[in-house]
Amino acid sequence: MGAKLLQGKPIAEKIKAEIRAEIESCSKKVTGVPALRAIQFGDDQASALYLKSQKKAAESVGIRHEVTALNAKAVEDDLIGEIERANRDPNVHGMIVQMPLPKSFRVDRILEAMDPDKDVEAVTTRNLGRLVINKAGLAPCTASACVRLIEETGVDVYGKEAVVIGSSKVVGLPAFLLLIGKKLTSMICHTGTFKSGALRSHVRRADVLVVSAGQPRLIPGGWVKEGSIVIDVGINQVDGKTVGDVDFEGAKQRAAFITPVPGGVGPLTVMMLMKNLMTAFKLQKGIGS
Ligand code: NAD
Repeated sequence: MGAKLLQGKPIAEKIKAEIRAEIESCSKKVTGVPALRAIQFGDDQASALYLKSQKKAAESVGIRHEVTALNAKAVEDDLIGEIERANRDPNVHGMIVQMPLPKSFRVDRILEAMDPDKDVEAVTTRNLGRLVINKAGLAPCTASACVRLIEETGVDVYGKEAVVIGSSKVVGLPAFLLLIGKKLTSMICHTGTFKSGALRSHVRRADVLVVSAGQPRLIPGGWVKEGSIVIDVGINQVDGKTVGDVDFEGAKQRAAFITPVPGGVGPLTVMMLMKNLMTAFKLQKGIGS
């Protein structure tokens, strides 16, 4: 029997309904429309696509989406100036600094200029630090999407073994921290694990496997534990096809649940961003969740 598919779209629709209900309930307590501001520099194609999907998701739930575009002559301090303006603006509840930025810009300095309460992508040190101490708040969207997909299986994963592959600050590391927070026995693997030849032995034990390495079909289906939950974050182009980091056909024969690529984690990520915006809105309006 094959694994059940964890499709992102129907879950994204569920989250949409949750956000609409949240907005409705907030509108009875406070004034103001939840608003997200994206600060953009240059004309990168991937960044433009991300902006489009933010706008679509925001409009679908009733969040205002604004874009501040800096011209090509702008310098690092102009960008910081825009961030500070958004920090001070009571009508902006969350912001995103669109990547990529010019190579000469100091990305860390720029991101840390954001008010952590408005950092809806959770890239500031304070928001990552809150995850470390398992305090509720803003968590990176893709990592939260992974956890939501696991929750949607309905499986009781308390105390089960979770293995996360990839330790990036935006996906792997926060996913690992969120899973520890949910009381899974968690570990993180990276290139060092791969090079030492130990990856397989860890993957085989995983009741929950989250893979975010950006390496096409890194995980052969035969490594996947029978009855496990497999969350494949990877997006790779191979021979004109989009594939994940897991050998989907092989893994599907062994896992109980698996995300397809595309269509699994992806559709959820931007909705988690909207959820974060609502968390930020309520925080700033002094409404408990
Ligand atoms: P990254 O490049 O920042 O980090 C990759 C991590 O994987 C590193 O920690 C590295 O040590 C580890 N890694 C690389 N090769 C490995 C190997 N052979 N064995 C073990 N570990 C290995 O990547 P990221 O930002 O976390 O993104 C990873 C993938 O997820 C990419 O394909 C990206 O496109 C995709 N992604 C998808 C979404 C989504 O919404 N679906 C969001 C973000 C990223």
